[in-house]
Amino acid sequence: MEREEEERLLRAARPLIGLAVAEDIGPGDATSNATLAADAVLHGHIVAKASGVVAGLSIAAEVFHRVDPAVAFVAHVADGQEVVPGELIAEVTGPARSLLAAERMALNFLGRLSGIATLTRCFADAVACTPAAILDTRKTLPGYRLLDKYAVRMGGGQNHRLSLYDMILIKDNHLDAAGGVLPAVDRARGAHPSLPIEVEVRNLAELREALQADPALDRIMLDNMGLEEMRQAVAIAAGRVPLEASGNVTLERVAQIAATGVDYISVGALTHSVEALDLSMEVTRPEERATAPDLNGRLAGLKSALGGRLVILGHHYQRDEVIAWADLRGDSLKLAREATQTDAQFIVFCGVHFMAETAAILARPDQRVFIPDATAGCYLADTATLEAVQAAWDRLAEALGDAEAEFTPVTYVNSSAALKAFCGRHGGIVCTSGNAGRAVRWALERRPRVFFFPDQHLGRNTARQIGIPLEAMLVWDGYQAPDVEALRRGKVVLWPGCCNVHQRFRPEHVRAVRQRFPGIRVLVHPECKMEVVDLADDAGSTAHIIDQVGAAPPGTQWAIGTEARLVHRLQREHPEQRVVPLADVPPFCRTMGQITPSNLAQTLEALAGGHVENAVIVDAETARWARLALERMLAL
Ligand code: SF4
Repeated sequence: MEREEEERLLRAARPLIGLAVAEDIGPGDATSNATLAADAVLHGHIVAKASGVVAGLSIAAEVFHRVDPAVAFVAHVADGQEVVPGELIAEVTGPARSLLAAERMALNFLGRLSGIATLTRCFADAVACTPAAILDTRKTLPGYRLLDKYAVRMGGGQNHRLSLYDMILIKDNHLDAAGGVLPAVDRARGAHPSLPIEVEVRNLAELREALQADPALDRIMLDNMGLEEMRQAVAIAAGRVPLEASGNVTLERVAQIAATGVDYISVGALTHSVEALDLSMEVTRPEERATAPDLNGRLAGLKSALGGRLVILGHHYQRDEVIAWADLRGDSLKLAREATQTDAQFIVFCGVHFMAETAAILARPDQRVFIPDATAGCYLADTATLEAVQAAWDRLAEALGDAEAEFTPVTYVNSSAALKAFCGRHGGIVCTSGNAGRAVRWALERRPRVFFFPDQHLGRNTARQIGIPLEAMLVWDGYQAPDVEALRRGKVVLWPGCCNVHQRFRPEHVRAVRQRFPGIRVLVHPECKMEVVDLADDAGSTAHIIDQVGAAPPGTQWAIGTEARLVHRLQREHPEQRVVPLADVPPFCRTMGQITPSNLAQTLEALAGGHVENAVIVDAETARWARLALERMLAL
């Protein structure tokens, strides 16, 4: 978090902390003062008991310091970072009475803000592959407005107006009292010419009236409209004024609302129905810390016992505590290929499931692949199932006669083994973010069009890079009948998938970082949106990003738009350069974070004990076709 933002947040939090201390401790913590020696010292671990997004660490630290400046608070994660159950969030050390007196208040703040950030992330993820942004409302706990809205940003949402004074929002009551949309807008504009104006409309007639405002409004809110009415509203507005959907927005419905094409979706529940993230603080006496089970010792012993039979692969987006145990570090394909060059019989892939599948496809018959958490999937890969792609393929065939004659399927390596096999079977190819241009060219040399999945952004950025105009690209819409003429005119059909990590970078992040660090080079991953790639100085694969920073002269400034753990590692490994995350809330990949030293140790323990746990198996037929699609790529 930027220093100024932290100061702003703490200024808002301090009066609340003062109230909390007065309310909770008052003249003193009777229990702790009675049962604990005045000079006793304790060490506390603040631990997540559920998965979620952390927000409010600086406020929790401030609570401890307010109760006792002698308490030391060390955060182990950052605000905006996803945690898994059992994950250590922060450590506190200090006088026992102070620690226990402050504990509940600190957890109350941290739990509430993390709960808001967690729910916001769920909504943001549900609409990630659409242009819609999630907004908060003024339905915040009195006094907590700035805190709650901060937590929304940490969850990946955006803030609506702060209060009644910083934006004009003309609602139904104002419209009725003023006699209609345009009279209300005229009066508002006359009174506050510099404030942005939004008008809430209840039907399409009011929308049409609002669209007549001249100059155009800053935004129009569609109040409690049904999905079909929203679709019509989007068609009527035709991009002239951004539209915000409001009312009856639930997690079940939000993706359908986003699919109507609205620009914003405001969700009161983010802050009015908060379920705090479950956290706890476990305390030990400092002398007991040394006797806690030594995970590192266990891992070292297991690694040495398994010796050359084992190779641990660590993807760049893994936690440092996991990377520390990796024999090889890299991106998914490089790791899968390098593992086959080792003598190891057990390949443990610290990454997500499709990566382990790729390793299993390329592995020798004497090698087996394992993943420490079998549920560590990939948001992007999961946007395209074999069934959904096959259904689209069949509909493309219905539309143009013979899909196999018209389209070469190209799958990004970030996809299931089943989709790689689909490409193998249908004359297609796999690509990486480093060779996607060559793969798409290869595909177009064989057939007139490309069907690219699952990442629409990589597909779009790649196709543009090799000279295909935007007008020749279509995004597949499984809900609508294909437009046959558009398909005939087109060159590339893009699957509507995206990576929920890279799509969080926005053009305003690029503009803000350039303003803050004049002369900085902006380097992003091509899974980012086209608007971000267009504003960046360079875009390339993870390996390209690492190489560029490594080869630059000391003093070079970089703003990097990719997964936060890699950016933080680059910062540490290149102190001679200035490396900053592109976004104000750097995005972490949640599923990459599911791999921990603890589940890595469990996997190694099972292997050392002769058990098979979390083996990644790709059936022989799928592996055969998938290997063919991979081999076509390797031959490029
Ligand atoms: S960063 Fe994106 S593409 Fe990579 S594993 Fe995570 S969700 Fe998947």
